[in-house]
Amino acid sequence: MKKISILGSTGSVGTQSLDVVRNLKKFEVVALSAGKNINLLESQIREFNPKFVCISSKNDAEFLSEKFRNVIFFHGIEGLQKIAKIDESEIVLNAVAGFTGIYASVSAIEAGKSLVLANKESIVAGAHFLMNLAKEKKCRILPIDSEHSAIWQCIDGKEKFLRRIILTASGGPFFGLGRENLKNVTKEQVIKHPTWKMGAKISVDSATMMNKGLEIIEAAHLFGVPASSIDVLIHPQSIVHSMVEFIDGNIISQMSVPDMKFPIQYALTYPERFNYSNGFLDLSHVCNLSFYNPSNETNRILNLCRESSKDNSLSCALNAINEVAVGAFLNKKISFLDIENIIFQGIDKFNPLKISSLSDIIECDRIARELANNLVILRM
Ligand code: MN
Repeated sequence: MKKISILGSTGSVGTQSLDVVRNLKKFEVVALSAGKNINLLESQIREFNPKFVCISSKNDAEFLSEKFRNVIFFHGIEGLQKIAKIDESEIVLNAVAGFTGIYASVSAIEAGKSLVLANKESIVAGAHFLMNLAKEKKCRILPIDSEHSAIWQCIDGKEKFLRRIILTASGGPFFGLGRENLKNVTKEQVIKHPTWKMGAKISVDSATMMNKGLEIIEAAHLFGVPASSIDVLIHPQSIVHSMVEFIDGNIISQMSVPDMKFPIQYALTYPERFNYSNGFLDLSHVCNLSFYNPSNETNRILNLCRESSKDNSLSCALNAINEVAVGAFLNKKISFLDIENIIFQGIDKFNPLKISSLSDIIECDRIARELANNLVILRM
């Protein structure tokens, strides 16, 4: 039995990861971490018997430690950093939501764990710093973002022949609609994604296409290619999860039913493949696979992300500004189209700074959040 920590265990990827772990019967869950969903966390503790558990608030940690006397509890950011490097665990699956995930990623890398990564914000904000640290610590990052799992499977060790990466995007719930139709879009419409079952933040990112922009940055760092060699195609069926084109013109794609359990299982069982299937794909049932170029408006956002990928502080700021804008939209403080306005204005106002440590990243994130919050207030 391999020993694994699942961080962010009550979120969408976290619960699906536990489903995969339960079915594979090859892992012992030694640690869990969660934000606020204390009821679900309790039932996960009962089922998986972890030795260590981390939860955001101190009160929740104290409340749970009364109930589970044999479990060691941590809380807050410090707790997350500690639980990500406990000696008892070999593999850390990081499905924490948003920028907070970087604390777990950096700790896990420093402790030399295998990092199974769903938290793309770690790579976007941590960027060059995080990838250099991983290289230095000889830490392998195994992505479970579906596109990146696809690219990883398609490259299959032949990165030196790579010509370009083609990231596919479902297009989100508003594909094909012009800006004038997006003015009065509501939170409820945004979080209803057509093909994937996901959390609120990523559903908004998917609707604004920022998710694809962040994934360009993620792919550039994970696979060591310039963002200018990463193209995007809209593929509404979400069957082809991405493609790679080699220098000889051959394109390899990866397909499956759109279900996060495929990339999660691939990362957990790599380099082997196991029998458990999450639903076999019947292409005759799908009938059509279609692909479209992104609109000019979408390309504007994607190009901003490509440009930001070159500088660590810019991609960190981009992530922070986006998180603030998405949060403000989810709290019904700003409109849907304000999200992208704030992103463009925020990056325009941000002054790049030098990043050489985690504390530099935290400071850069703080500055960008303050800037974005001021822009939110102006629009309220
Ligand atoms: Mn994705």
